[in-house]
Amino acid sequence: MIVDRVLGMIEKSRKLIPVNSNWASQMGEDCLRFLVLHRTSWELQELPSLPLMCRFDIGHAVEAMALRKIEDAFGQQIILRQQPFVEKRSGISGKIEGVIQCEDGKKRPLEIKSMATAIFEQFSDDPHDLSDFEKYPWTRKYVPQLSIYLYLAGYEEGVLVLVALDGRYKEKIVKLDYDLVDGLIKKAEAVNAHVAAGTLPDYHPDAGKCLECRLFTVCKPPMKYGDGPVEINHDDLAANLRIWDETRKPRKAYEDAYENIKSFIGARPAVLCDKYQITRTPNKKGALLTKITVAGEDE
Ligand code: SF4
Repeated sequence: MIVDRVLGMIEKSRKLIPVNSNWASQMGEDCLRFLVLHRTSWELQELPSLPLMCRFDIGHAVEAMALRKIEDAFGQQIILRQQPFVEKRSGISGKIEGVIQCEDGKKRPLEIKSMATAIFEQFSDDPHDLSDFEKYPWTRKYVPQLSIYLYLAGYEEGVLVLVALDGRYKEKIVKLDYDLVDGLIKKAEAVNAHVAAGTLPDYHPDAGKCLECRLFTVCKPPMKYGDGPVEINHDDLAANLRIWDETRKPRKAYEDAYENIKSFIGARPAVLCDKYQITRTPNKKGALLTKITVAGEDE
């Protein structure tokens, strides 16, 4: 039907993009080995999954819509749209979304990032607070990316416009940090040196990061199981461990209370107490099954 055909079309559009330079959008990556493999073995990485492609599709559409809205609001005040660049010393390349003439008279490079609503809500409304970008591996790359654009285009400040998939907006002001940019250029030079020498840097020390890496099968990090703990920093795993921790004591209390209720009721087939009804019915083998219902609640 319609959906199958659309999804089939999206699936067919999955492809890998050749990597011949150090992408500004990747320079915030903290695994040097990834950056080297991204240059030398890009064609071996896994294709994005269909759900990820669908998410990219929506993200691109939302970002294009946001740019149109900004253009409608600012008209001719956006210059250098989609301006490509290459930084000669380090070979970092990228494309500036545009430079916008703001109401205070300053010109600021602009970068638009779409994000899931739940992630968008974790970002504060304070335009100068950049701390929330540290929460996710991919959002960690946004400030370094725009910082490189600022450095290359010669601006002191830029704007990251965040757009939620439900259409809400926030903006973050990024000031040029020379130390940050210097570190990114040095990192790119280290990548270039490995690419030229045909060598690879060490594995990333965080096994949790490797588990999520799209170059995992190319990199083949030595994941050790059974001889000592492997430290894994993974948001989903940590969230589930916290749920396990928060529910294990109530669950123990639940199980104890249930056993106490059964021994209190004994062989009585039905008991009413407060708003609860307890029934005990034998199964085929004669064992008593206990059921507790609460008045006013659907079963
Ligand atoms: S699997 Fe781990 S070490 Fe290898 S590139 Fe990815 S993050 Fe880096």
